[in-house]
Amino acid sequence: MYRSHNNGSLRASDINTEVTLSGWVQKSRDKGFMIWVDLRDRYGITQLIFDEERTSKDIMEQARTLGREFVIQVKGAVIERASKNPNIPTGDIEILVSELTVLNEALTPPFTIEDETDGGEDVRMKYRYLDIRRNPVKDSLIFRHKVAMEVRKYLSNEDFIEVETPYLIKSTPEGARDFVVPSRMNEGQFYALPQSPQTFKQLLMVGGMDKYFQIVKCFRDEDLRADRQPEFTQIDCEMAFVEQEDILNIFEGLTRHLLKEVNGVDVEKFPRMLYDDAMRLYGNDKPDIRFGMEFGELNEVAQHKDFKVFNSAELVVGIAVPGGNSHTRKEIDKLIDWVKRPQVGALGMVYARCNDDGSYKSSVDKFYDQEDLAKWAEVTGAKPGDLICVLSGDTNKVRAQLSALRMELAERLGLRDPKVFAPLWVIDFPLLELDEETGHYHAMHHPFTSPKPGQIELLATDPGAVKANAYDLVLNGNEIGGGSIRIHDKKTQALMFDYLGFTPEEAKAQFGFLMDAFQYGAPPHGGLAFGLDRLVAILGGQETIRDFIAFPKNNSGRDVMIDAPAAIDEDQLKELHLKVHA
Ligand code: ASP
Repeated sequence: MYRSHNNGSLRASDINTEVTLSGWVQKSRDKGFMIWVDLRDRYGITQLIFDEERTSKDIMEQARTLGREFVIQVKGAVIERASKNPNIPTGDIEILVSELTVLNEALTPPFTIEDETDGGEDVRMKYRYLDIRRNPVKDSLIFRHKVAMEVRKYLSNEDFIEVETPYLIKSTPEGARDFVVPSRMNEGQFYALPQSPQTFKQLLMVGGMDKYFQIVKCFRDEDLRADRQPEFTQIDCEMAFVEQEDILNIFEGLTRHLLKEVNGVDVEKFPRMLYDDAMRLYGNDKPDIRFGMEFGELNEVAQHKDFKVFNSAELVVGIAVPGGNSHTRKEIDKLIDWVKRPQVGALGMVYARCNDDGSYKSSVDKFYDQEDLAKWAEVTGAKPGDLICVLSGDTNKVRAQLSALRMELAERLGLRDPKVFAPLWVIDFPLLELDEETGHYHAMHHPFTSPKPGQIELLATDPGAVKANAYDLVLNGNEIGGGSIRIHDKKTQALMFDYLGFTPEEAKAQFGFLMDAFQYGAPPHGGLAFGLDRLVAILGGQETIRDFIAFPKNNSGRDVMIDAPAAIDEDQLKELHLKVHA
C-alpha cells in the first residue's frame, strides 16, 4: 500500500495515528539537528519532520539526500506541530517519520513548482507535466472537470443521451478549413476531421434519439488568432420536436445551473436582444452588457453642418464615457492614437467634453454650437462630467471600431468585473453573410440553418435581409454558444445549397446522405453547441483558455512538448500514397 491518506487530509484529530504517505518533495529545510520536508500531492501539502532525538541516524542521513520533486513514501506518526501554519488545512500537524523510501529520484525541474513560478510560457509548455503539478493549472483542470460533470448531470436529468459520433468523416462546413487524414486503404482519398458533429447530430434526430448531447473534440484549421486552439471541445446538443423557444429555455437552464453549482451565483432570466439591435447599440454581435456605454447614432444631429468628414460618412456614432471629462488633453490624444492603431483602424476621433456646469467643449467647435452638442449628449446619454467619443465612416467598420474602443475603455475603467456574470441571448441572426472579397453570400451560421418562417422567398430578391432561426448565447462579451433551428426537408435544403452556390451534383456528393435522410421522416429539430474551453475559462473568472486545457497548442498550432506536427518517414508516406513537395 503506497498511502493510507493523501497529503491534504490529516488534521489535529488524527494525532497519534500511524500513517503512510506518498508524494513529491516540494521543499526541505535542514537545520542540522532537524529536517523538515513539505510533501505534496494533488490534494495538498503535509509537513514531515525528521529530528536527531527521535529519528534514527540512517533515516536522518537519507532525508538529507532528498532533492526537489523526488517521489517518496514515508511511514510515521501524526504529531502536533510546535509552530502551527494556519494557511494550510494540514497546518496543525506534522509527521514524525520512522520509515522513508525513495520511489523515484528527479532531476531539478527547469522552473519552480510554485503558484508564482519563475518559468516562462514556453518552458512551461515544454514541460507541461511539471506545470500541471502547480496549483493554478491543477486547479483549473479540476474546475473544468467539475463544469463538465455538472453539464452531464443537468442534461442527463433532462433526458439527454450522450452519443459519440465519429472523428474520421468528411467535411462538415462550419466556415473553417478541414484537417484531413489520408486513407491508406483507399488510395488518393481522405477523411476530414469534424469541424463539429453537426450532420451526425441531425442524423441522430432522424434516428429518433430526440435529445442528444456530447462533450466532444472539434477540429478547425484556421489561421490562429490569439487564444484559439486548432482542436477544442464543444458541448454539442440537439433536440427534436422543438422550436427556438424550447431550446433557449433548456440551455438557459443549463447555464443557470452551472452558474449556480459552480459559481454560487443566481442569475435572473436572461435578456434577449435582436442581432440588429446588438449591432446598432454595441457594434458587436456579442455585447458585454455588464456596463452601459451604448452607441448613439448621430447622423441626424451631426450631418449637414459643413463638417465634411461627418457629411460624407455612412454612419456617425458616439459613446459617452462615464467621468471621461477628467481625461487630460494628452490622454485624449493617446486615445485618438489608440483608435488609429492598425488593429482598430479608425482614421480619427472627434470628442466633446461635457463640463460640470452643463456646457460643452468639442474638438469640432468650429462646426457645432452648444445646442448641437447638447443633442449629441442627449443621443449618447452623456451627463456632465462625461466625454463623448465619436467615430464616423462605413457602417460595419465604424461599428467594429467603436466597439473596440468601448471594450478598451470599459477595461480601463474596471467595468469588466470577472465576478459579475451577464448572460444574454442574441437572436434573429441574418441567414447569410456577404463575403466582401468574393461578393458571394455564404451561410452565417452553417448551411443547415433554417430561415425564419415566411422569409424564404426573400432569398431571391434581398438575400442579406433574410433572418434565420439562429441564436447565440453571450456571456460577458464572449460568445459561449450558438445554434439554430434546422432545415428538415429535402426541398428547402436543396434550395439553400442552390443559393449558396452549390451545383445539385456538388450538394449531392457532399451532403446527399443528409438530404436522403430527410426523405425518411425527419422530425423538426434544432440545437446548439457551447465552446467548453471558453465557458470554463469565463466561469473560472479568466479569459484565456490555455490554462484550462491539459495539453494546449501554442499560437502556431504546435504542441512543443511532443513536438508536433512533425515529418513522417518515407515508408509511411508511401504507404499513404503521399508525396511531399519541398
Ligand atoms: N455546429 C454548430 C457549431 O459548431 C452548432 C450548432 O449549430 O448546433 O457552431
